[in-house]
Amino acid sequence: MSPGPDMSTDLYAVLGNPVEHSKSPRIHALFAAQCEQRLRYEKRLIARDGFSQGLHAFRAEGGKGCNVTVPFKFEAAAAAAQRLSPRAALAGAANTLGWDDAGVLWADNTDGIGLVRDLARILGRPAPRLLAGFHVLLLGAGGAASGVLGALIEARPAGLDIWNRSADRARDLAARHAEFAARHGVALRAVAEPEAGYRLLINATASSLDGMALSLPNATLHPGVLAYDLMYAARATPFMAQARAAGAAAEDGLGMLVEQAAESFALWRGMRPDTAPVLAAMQTELRGPRD
Ligand code: NAP
Repeated sequence: MSPGPDMSTDLYAVLGNPVEHSKSPRIHALFAAQCEQRLRYEKRLIARDGFSQGLHAFRAEGGKGCNVTVPFKFEAAAAAAQRLSPRAALAGAANTLGWDDAGVLWADNTDGIGLVRDLARILGRPAPRLLAGFHVLLLGAGGAASGVLGALIEARPAGLDIWNRSADRARDLAARHAEFAARHGVALRAVAEPEAGYRLLINATASSLDGMALSLPNATLHPGVLAYDLMYAARATPFMAQARAAGAAAEDGLGMLVEQAAESFALWRGMRPDTAPVLAAMQTELRGPRD
């Protein structure tokens, strides 16, 4: 898993569908410049039924490692079932793949640590027990929700509810994490309807990617609530706009994107970039300079 010194232009990519919107190539270019690493990081649009073929084609091109995004995170974990990190095994989903020196595929998941680091920045609280006293609602039960749930549990919220459009997937996700949550003393539930009293709402659905707001009870969004959308865009996402209209604070997932990328970069290159200047650069590139 640990790469040797960089002697060439190693090839990395993000594999997904859609993938055109991805800022990962730019983020990794900034990391590479900062860490003086020679590498290329590209986008690969993969047919929805062709993940395995796409991954092998990328490897045949000389790929050293890749990120995996919508909708392939479960398939990515399955592809490397023999070499899953504990956090990818818990999630059953992977966003970071690589090949070791013997050519064996390994998989990890950096989404959770990426989210938690960004929440620590936004909330101004240290990562251990970051969410102590918080009731949290996680929206979604796909690859991203699966990837972040373990790290949210480790942040020790007072309660953690999962809601998903397809309720059975929320129940499955909660069941897969039940033992882990119990070990951390966290009350974890799948709920058919979001309730009142959450301090943090995390949108890990693809609703904003579809340009849609979520149908949430009025009691969930109000002043004092932070609404965090994993999706990021030049302007407020539909979820963020919905939250702000109700007086809640809202943030998008650009900071998480930079943090999860830094963790992937560290896995591939053995060095951790400084994320603060890269996030500042990405914010300016995406939204223009702040006043
Ligand atoms: P995924 O595996 O395809 O899962 C999609 C999830 O969204 C499922 O829970 C699905 O519900 C739900 N969903 C889709 N369309 C919806 C709609 N119109 N209304 C309500 N729910 C809807 O995708 P994913 O990998 O989890 O990614 C989800 C989002 O997170 C994407 O926008 C992605 O860009 C973002 N993301 C951001 C970061 C970051 O670093 N900022 C990292 C990872 C992911 P059903 O189960 O009912 O289909």
